[in-house]
Amino acid sequence: MAQLLKMENITKKFGEVTALNKISIELEAGEILSLCGENGSGKSTLMKVLCGIYPYGTYSGDIYFSNEKLTANHIKDTEDKGIAIIHQELALVKTMSVLENMFLGNEITQSVITDDNEMYLRCQTLLKQVQLDVDPHTIVGELGLGQQQLVEIAKALSKQVRLLILDEPTASLTEKETGILLNLIKDLKAHNIACIYISHKLNEVKAISDKICVIRDGEHIGTRRAEGMSEDDIITMMVGREITSLYPHE
Ligand code: ADP
Ligand code: MG
Repeated sequence: MAQLLKMENITKKFGEVTALNKISIELEAGEILSLCGENGSGKSTLMKVLCGIYPYGTYSGDIYFSNEKLTANHIKDTEDKGIAIIHQELALVKTMSVLENMFLGNEITQSVITDDNEMYLRCQTLLKQVQLDVDPHTIVGELGLGQQQLVEIAKALSKQVRLLILDEPTASLTEKETGILLNLIKDLKAHNIACIYISHKLNEVKAISDKICVIRDGEHIGTRRAEGMSEDDIITMMVGREITSLYPHE
């Protein structure tokens, strides 16, 4: 398989704090990598470096996407190359409709959209893809959080995405919505779309990952193939010692 992403020796400091210390990860097209680590270990920071939220020059190390060096100054630069990130805090405009959000920033939002308009139909198709059964004219604020998450993913799919990054996507999802999301990620994989998945829920991580990468205090602890790894193995790598339960006082 072709290599899609290579992040090499990424170091990111916030003042005196070293949030990431020489972290390297690699990803092939259509591969699903889970990024695991305790709160504050550096997962989100690594993804923000990748996406250009932290611009080139504010970190050290190299990033290659499709064999091309990434020197993004803005998230827009990586979006254009096919990288989409979905954060836990959603970025939708709650007072606007699903349809308007879907194509926000696109000229069509300025024009009147009828129900047989191309964009309306395109929006319906995208919603169907994420199995979200709502009318495109629905105001986003009226949807549940899980539904809003699915709208964000549908929005990402409306662009030519090659790498989808999900930063703790299921925190506010119901079990059913989580199931839809995990199936969707597998479906995208079948279309050669890669995914970096961040979650605390190790059963989800186990269920979908090809590879599992563990970081602790900004250090890369290891990346292993998911098959054969137990949840306990992942926890041991995350915390640096063997523990029998995540909840030792129970
Ligand atoms: P995770 O996503 O794994 O929970 P983060 O990447 O958010 O961890 O944070 C990693 C470390 O970097 C933490 O120590 C956090 O306090 C610090 N950090 C993250 N963002 C900032 C920031 N904007 N300014 C200063 N420190 C930050
Ligand atoms: Mg985070």
